[in-house]
Amino acid sequence: MSFLFNDNIRKMTGYTPGFQPESPDAIKLNTNENPYPASPKVFEALSSLTARDLKVYPPFTWKHFRKAAAELHGLDQDQIICGNGGDELLTMMVRACCDSHRPLAYPTPTYSLYPVLANIQDCPVIEMPWGDGGSLPDNLCNTGASLTIICNPNAPTTTFISPEEIAEFVKNNEGVVLVDEAYADFAEDNCIRLLKQFDNLAILRSFSKGYSMAGMRFGYIMTSPLIASALLKIKDSYNVNIATQKAALAAILDQDYFLDNIARIKSERERVTEALRKLGFTMPDSQTNFILAKVPSDQDAKSIYEKLVEREIYIRYFAYEGLTDKLRISIGTKHENNCLLAAIAEILNK
Ligand SMILES: *Cc1c(COP(=O)(O)O)cnc(C)c1O
Repeated sequence: MSFLFNDNIRKMTGYTPGFQPESPDAIKLNTNENPYPASPKVFEALSSLTARDLKVYPPFTWKHFRKAAAELHGLDQDQIICGNGGDELLTMMVRACCDSHRPLAYPTPTYSLYPVLANIQDCPVIEMPWGDGGSLPDNLCNTGASLTIICNPNAPTTTFISPEEIAEFVKNNEGVVLVDEAYADFAEDNCIRLLKQFDNLAILRSFSKGYSMAGMRFGYIMTSPLIASALLKIKDSYNVNIATQKAALAAILDQDYFLDNIARIKSERERVTEALRKLGFTMPDSQTNFILAKVPSDQDAKSIYEKLVEREIYIRYFAYEGLTDKLRISIGTKHENNCLLAAIAEILNK
């Protein structure tokens, strides 16, 4: 019955998510979630939901969250577009910009959802390897792509491109540029100030990493009124449910709690990086909440990964070109990180 579906849908493969172990004893450092709970204000907001909140449709254009986010970032409210997680917003951007004659471009390796979204739109993909040290590919600029996605900091390489380099790229590029800042909460800088300069720029944020709310599904885009108005046209009518809107508002208003959490993760990130380097791993300084560690030259990444699984410690191993000698490790709590480091030392016999 293959005639039931569009050709491109029949041919494509869907997204493969990271493994979700069921055991509560498992140490889960494989999907870059935040190891700390969301702000207590989030749980207060959720427990104060009323019957009326559930009975009526939620705010169509997320007005309370929009106001709070605009104030935090120094933008206008109509520059903020909210979605059910960053992934829904990525879908909306690809839907708005790409079709079979309008390609999507991005540097690789990067987030493996991008080609899936292109396939759904039956849109050609232009992939280009990152330059040395994670710089932008030289010829990413004149690809003729309608949409170029730059994941910054990038997953899974953890490297960061300066906003100045991105500004230069946006200036010389004719299509729309989407900077995926899912990990910007952990980076030294971000591209928000570039929004003053460019109408063809959009910046994506997620609440799954920095705000500890992956299960809630929330993210937002900051962009020009021009791109925002296109996204408003194509969004699902009431795309973000009331519980998520209230929880996200409570979370973004509690910046003190958020910033404390980020600081804790960054300091653990430096500690884990140092400890792994002492064990013979090499890696760039990460600008995210995970690290991509190259295993010592006499070791096999896949077998370290498997031996960690035997110990109920889950990290990520990618069987992709350029990544087979590396392990991606999300930063956990101090205790989780200590368990990981002890297990790796034991596996290496050190
Ligand atoms: C996590 C992530 C997102 C968005 O994830 P959501 O959970 O849908 O908010 C987007 N891009 C990258 C690179 C990510 O790692």
